[in-house]
Amino acid sequence: MKKLLAILLTLCLCLFEALPAFAAAPALTASSVNAAPGEPFDLPLKIENNPGFCYLKITFTYDADLLTLEAVTNGAVSTDAFTVTDKALQWDSDADVTASGVLATLRFTAKRAGSATVTFKVVGCYNYDEATVPLAGTAAAVTVAAPHVHDFGAWTYLDETLHRRVCKSDSSHTETAPHSWDAGKVTAQPRCAVVGVKTYTCTVCGGTRTEELPALEHAPKTVPGKPATCTEAGMTDGVVCATCGEILIAQTSVPALGHDWSAWTVTVEPTETAEGTETRTCNRCGETQSRAIPKLEPVSEPTDPSEPTDPSEPTDPSEPTDPSEPTDPTDPSQPYPVCVPGDVDLDGKVTASDARLALRRAVELDDHLNAQQLLNANVDGDDKITASDARLILRAAVGLETL
Ligand SMILES: [Zn+2]
Ligand SMILES: [Zn+2]
Ligand SMILES: [Zn+2]
Ligand SMILES: [Zn+2]
Repeated sequence: MKKLLAILLTLCLCLFEALPAFAAAPALTASSVNAAPGEPFDLPLKIENNPGFCYLKITFTYDADLLTLEAVTNGAVSTDAFTVTDKALQWDSDADVTASGVLATLRFTAKRAGSATVTFKVVGCYNYDEATVPLAGTAAAVTVAAPHVHDFGAWTYLDETLHRRVCKSDSSHTETAPHSWDAGKVTAQPRCAVVGVKTYTCTVCGGTRTEELPALEHAPKTVPGKPATCTEAGMTDGVVCATCGEILIAQTSVPALGHDWSAWTVTVEPTETAEGTETRTCNRCGETQSRAIPKLEPVSEPTDPSEPTDPSEPTDPSEPTDPSEPTDPTDPSQPYPVCVPGDVDLDGKVTASDARLALRRAVELDDHLNAQQLLNANVDGDDKITASDARLILRAAVGLETL
């Protein structure tokens, strides 16, 4: 048994050692190629498992209707004594060449779409010992595809400058082109202080772009006001925009001025039996006001001119002193001088005596002035006899004031 096994093992080893010798048959190869019409392509012819040759001649055929032979270049296997025609390749060396690889490269151009075969036939192959090298021919299929025709879809918006279309047959094929803008349309009218918008549309892809239109300026228009009167409020001028109506400067109200009254003037003298009337007029609007003057009281005792001076009334320190005008006692028998402002003692003149009487009345030391005296004493027009009246009368007496 053991002996048999050993024999089998030895046989197997011998077989394995012999196998490479069987596998290494020399061969010519040429791969199939895809080509495009009008475009040159290369067809390499190779030798594999070269056992060594010094002479090799290969003829080749191809469909000349479809292919044009452009060139043949020698490969790296044998650089010696290479000759080529449009139908044959030949190597003739002094020694065996044993390299495997590219024998030669044929360059063709395809004239049109179609398919063809390039066939290589070994005419002779010998080694240095003139033994025939067993090398078979080969063939390569050439497929020339029809040229690609783009089938572009519609143009679509790509960016603010370009639109783009894509080939439906091969989405890697794209084309871009600049937009073709139309004349544009105003899509938002500019208004006062508000910008407008103009929109342009691409006539090819329908994309849009917009441009700002400058805002309009307000058109100012004056709204006339109304002057204030004595009794009615007025308004200032205003400004509005004639276009949009916006109020640019608002009107404001001006309060009524109030009447500008003149001094009261006696228009009907009072008597002992009838009231009089006094009137005043507005200097601005002419409005008049009247009021009654009480009846005159019957004249009784003359006022005492030597009445003690007012002990408590402060004299006006800045007022000039009485320039020694003699007091003039009222003569009750004389008629009342008509309406001399400041003439309290009714002597027809304005003197310090009048001021004194007014002052006494003001501090209520003397309350028996009659209506005419009261009227004359009220020089400041406030309907009351006060120190202010006395002061004005005194100033008038010395010529500092005109009543
Ligand atoms: Zn395409
Ligand atoms: Zn476009
Ligand atoms: Zn406006
Ligand atoms: Zn008035």
